[in-house]
Amino acid sequence: MSSSPVALYGFTRPELVALVTGWGMSAVHAARLWKYLYLEGMDDFAAMSELPARLRSRLETETMPGRLAIARETHSSDGFTRKYLLALGDEHRIETVLMRYTGRTTACISSQVGCAMGCVFCATGQMGYTRHLTPGEIVAQAVHVDRVLRHTAEENPALSEADHFSPHHRHERLRNIVLMGMGEPLHNYDAVMKAADILCDGAGMGLGAKKITLSTVGVVPGIIRMTDEKRQMHLAVSLHGATQAERLALVPAARAWPLDALMDACRYYTETLDRRIFFEWTLIEGKNDGPDQAHAVGALLKGMQAQVNLIPLNPTSGYAGLPSHNTAAKRFQEILAGYGLPSTVRQRRGIDIGAGCGQLAVAEG
Ligand code: SF4
Repeated sequence: MSSSPVALYGFTRPELVALVTGWGMSAVHAARLWKYLYLEGMDDFAAMSELPARLRSRLETETMPGRLAIARETHSSDGFTRKYLLALGDEHRIETVLMRYTGRTTACISSQVGCAMGCVFCATGQMGYTRHLTPGEIVAQAVHVDRVLRHTAEENPALSEADHFSPHHRHERLRNIVLMGMGEPLHNYDAVMKAADILCDGAGMGLGAKKITLSTVGVVPGIIRMTDEKRQMHLAVSLHGATQAERLALVPAARAWPLDALMDACRYYTETLDRRIFFEWTLIEGKNDGPDQAHAVGALLKGMQAQVNLIPLNPTSGYAGLPSHNTAAKRFQEILAGYGLPSTVRQRRGIDIGAGCGQLAVAEG
């Protein structure tokens, strides 16, 4: 018997079946356990009354679901965003964000403790890299948000209609995930893809792969591998600069994966999979929000299946830049439109609780 219990959220369904049948018990019970975990959101083995007692007892001694304890929860003042500081099994913590914008709920999930990519304007990058998350720790974040959505109304009967998470949204399930939390998901490729497979399993959470968006700083080998594996999730690529020199000033990872190689990989993705890429552009006043940069982006992406998401900079303690004004964002969009490129300007939400893009970070130690 292993000394520490294994976390079941890190198991695919076939692996769970192998575990249970390896104990000499039926695959039918493994299938029921999977439903308890993901369809019913249960994590108390003792309450899983349809499982035989000897299976429950074995689960209790040798495994755990892998639920992450909430170390802190904060709600934005406008009621649209909740941020959770979740405790991992060791001394580390991560942040996970639940958003309700334009009538849909989305979980922003972390893939690493910290990040090695060092984007200058990003709080996670400013804290450095600590470790990869396991598949189970990635899945557990989605399970946590799903549980919140299901139980918010019951647990908080006093919540008013004005709260965007209840009560008329009761019994809602998580349907959208963005891998845009702490960490670079393609730096932790195997764990992220295994977690996505677990979350998309039709007998469990049943998320559609196209309801998951993976955001990368531009890890070229990962983009090529996603393409070769015909991964169905959406891909977002952080661009931020339209020349190698301008990009490198904001994104140190551009040294390892220069702009030319990145664009080659992006074209390989869009042409092989016949899918669009979302290019993310953090708008920093006076730095990369001028008409010349907009024209450079237009020329770079012209003819590609692409959409540009413009994100006015969110404040972090380690970077002095300011967000662009609405007029600059609008002008940027108009120029992109001239190149046939659709674009959006991301709403700034959750800023008051440090839950906006590039703001996630936890104090370590
Ligand atoms: S923006 Fe993403 S890739 Fe860059 S440092 Fe932050 S978490 Fe890492």
